[in-house]
Amino acid sequence: MTGTIKRVALTHIQIPLKEPFRISGGEVAIKDAISVALETDAAVGLGESAPMPASFGYSGDTPEGCWDDLCERIVPGLLGWSFGSIEEIAARAEKAGGSRFAVAGVETACWDLLAQSRHETIAELLGAAHSFVNHQIESGLAVGLYPTVVELLKTIETHLAEGYRRVKIKIAPGRDIELVRAVRQHFGDELPLMVDANGAYTREDIGLFRQLDALDLLMFEQPMAANDLDGLAALQAAVTTPVCLDETADTLEHTADALRRGAGRIVNIKIQRAGGFGPALAMHDLCQAHGAACWVGTMPELGIGQAQGIHLATLANCKYPTDIEPSARWFVDDYVVPRLELTGPGLFSVPTRPGLGFQVDPAKLRRYQVRQREFTTHTSA
Ligand SMILES: [Mg+2]
Repeated sequence: MTGTIKRVALTHIQIPLKEPFRISGGEVAIKDAISVALETDAAVGLGESAPMPASFGYSGDTPEGCWDDLCERIVPGLLGWSFGSIEEIAARAEKAGGSRFAVAGVETACWDLLAQSRHETIAELLGAAHSFVNHQIESGLAVGLYPTVVELLKTIETHLAEGYRRVKIKIAPGRDIELVRAVRQHFGDELPLMVDANGAYTREDIGLFRQLDALDLLMFEQPMAANDLDGLAALQAAVTTPVCLDETADTLEHTADALRRGAGRIVNIKIQRAGGFGPALAMHDLCQAHGAACWVGTMPELGIGQAQGIHLATLANCKYPTDIEPSARWFVDDYVVPRLELTGPGLFSVPTRPGLGFQVDPAKLRRYQVRQREFTTHTSA
């Protein structure tokens, strides 16, 4: 059993990106995250809710909405609670209501507390049913859209020196085959390469993907809209490159439906979008049952959120490099201790300390704080 939760601290922070991140649906320059700390007498469980800003057009789960859900619906009921199993966490998370990004903040902190109480890592707690835990996981480089091909190539070149295990470029209508050909020409056919369209194409574009099919890509990530399962299935039937479901993989039911209908053969699992470790694990197992490989994507989150992905990526059916990248890749700073750093060429070590294996730097929380709220057993209002 964990100890009784006596204090919950929420801190909304904003850390600027080093450069704006552009995809087919919008761009973002500042990363919002809500740090969640659940305290017992024995331990602190850490979580992160990492929604995108409303302006990004990616998701309806905004920082303001998540903050309100956490303060009003999710956190107050946690005080005085203790628990001893992932099933108890799942039951409470299901009852909580509110945005899945908000629920993920608390659910992941609960997993941290439970793993610590069992003297296990979160990877071990996740993998208990799988008897297989990797000690290092692979990091893939993701780059956004750039105004020119030269800037795209330069960005890839700069970062590839760190040994990333694959490169993912964003594409959008009119900025696709030319970019892929340029990357192939510059870096060669051996580079593990994939494209992410964030749903920007339709069935009219299957001819384009047939052309891309000849360029030996690892996968086409979300070529068509999240709900266009017929379009995705028609595309998958027309090409040999696997289609990867990302935005489509928002819920277990939707993902199962998409896999049954042949809309893709790979799934990008995001802990935030799934609503925490429990739903992410369920999605991993669903993919395995359907013979679909998966991998761990990011929003990207700040350090605590990305560290969670390192644990998830140890699972056996996570067969492609993650989108998890070092703290210094996207953000001018990070609030996680230690900062996320590659421990080998394109590799992250999986922490061996109990729980998440990462801490929060209180000075950084204060420095980047937008608002803070504490709940205690004495003043829960
Ligand atoms: Mg994607």
